[in-house]
Amino acid sequence: MIEDKPDTNSFRFFGLGGSNEVGRSCHILQYKGKTVMLDAGVHPAHQGIASLPFYDEFNLSKVDVLLISHFHLDHAASLPYVMQRTNFQGRVFMTHPTKAIYRWLLSDFVKVTNIGNGTAASSGDENLYTDEDLAESFDKIETVDFHSTIDVNGIKFTAYHAGHVLGAAMFQVEIAGLRILFTGDYSRELDRHLNSAEVPSLPSDILIVESTFGTATHEPRVSKERKLTQLIHTTVAKGGRVLLPVFALGRAQEIMLILDEYWSQHAEELGTGQVPIFYASNLARKCMSVFQTYVNMMNDKIRKKFRDSQTNPFIFKNISYLKNLDEFQDFGPSVMLASPGMLQNGLSRDLLEKWCPDEKNLVLITGYSVEGTMAKFLILEPESIPSINNPDVTIPRRCQVEEISFAAHVDFRENLEFVEKIGAPSIILVHGESNPMGRLKSALLSNFSPLKGTENEVHVYNPRNCVAVDIEFKGVKIAK
Ligand SMILES: [Zn+2]
Repeated sequence: MIEDKPDTNSFRFFGLGGSNEVGRSCHILQYKGKTVMLDAGVHPAHQGIASLPFYDEFNLSKVDVLLISHFHLDHAASLPYVMQRTNFQGRVFMTHPTKAIYRWLLSDFVKVTNIGNGTAASSGDENLYTDEDLAESFDKIETVDFHSTIDVNGIKFTAYHAGHVLGAAMFQVEIAGLRILFTGDYSRELDRHLNSAEVPSLPSDILIVESTFGTATHEPRVSKERKLTQLIHTTVAKGGRVLLPVFALGRAQEIMLILDEYWSQHAEELGTGQVPIFYASNLARKCMSVFQTYVNMMNDKIRKKFRDSQTNPFIFKNISYLKNLDEFQDFGPSVMLASPGMLQNGLSRDLLEKWCPDEKNLVLITGYSVEGTMAKFLILEPESIPSINNPDVTIPRRCQVEEISFAAHVDFRENLEFVEKIGAPSIILVHGESNPMGRLKSALLSNFSPLKGTENEVHVYNPRNCVAVDIEFKGVKIAK
């Protein structure tokens, strides 16, 4: 366990997860005797205790405030564990849509992880938490509105729009005059339904920023959308099936907006059930009602569409919902959006194993695939894949595999532009595999090299998990 930090003018960052990796995000901030925890995720490539951040390395009873940036599992799925199974006693905050979606997502997460470890009834040691833990912790979570500042014993924080997924927030935290901005996962591109990330009106001394895509460049949105619809159209035209593994909520809704519009534009060839589109998730209906409820938190484009047509843009004409595969009759070409997004288990994995032996079929990866998951493995186009229910059985892989990213993380140019706008003298990189993160660090340092040696020098840190970063602010900050 990390030793206590003496109460000086130094700020400490301590990563319990999500440092030099993507997954199990959890970061600790300490300044002037206050402790803030950012996110509480799990690692999608691991199971049970192994999927948790390194909670044993920090005394969680010290945490005053825990802020959750968004509902994705790698940022939120260990929260019930923290609240119910550790000595954590702090207050927990998230935005309204995050809390609404978090509830359904995590009860599904409990179900899925329980199936992997025996029956749902016997909650063995392997299960991180139960439905009861989830329900009890849920009542204690407090919600925040965007742009309104909350003060908990001298820790002030404000949520800003982060883009990425519905409800996602960046948090600007202020302790004794020192301001820290945590981006969580964020995007700057205007998409079909979300506001892009904003720059807070007050400057920040420290920026904690994601580095998922490192120094890579995204393809322009128009050409990405065209590629997506054309690939799918070509596949179904020759009688193939298309599997889009998606995380149940968030980016899946963006893909649905694109496909529903395209199907309406090509109604003669594809419409009225000729080529059905399915959204297969235990959560489909519940989740869509959350999206339909929070249209007022989305961007102007989609709100205008809502006003003009008087119909909810998340009520799709060409997409039907499937709760499970029992009700699915697999005749002829179809397009299937199924969760989970990294093909670890569940519906998307079952369909992958069913469809991958046929070369007519297409698996189209649109999200970010974490190291160690089936989605990441599949991109390498292996000859065969192991069956989930019987690891001794391998299944030939002849289907086409393509990747078009709609993951809604910033690329290098967008990230750099945002980092420059924030203008923080200290930058801490998180949420990226070591290589892309290392490249991003070098690129940022060379970008800011003209300031080197001046009083405006920019420092960039890429710490590993459980390695503290201490930054002195002696005499600079005056408590206001
Ligand atoms: Zn995310």
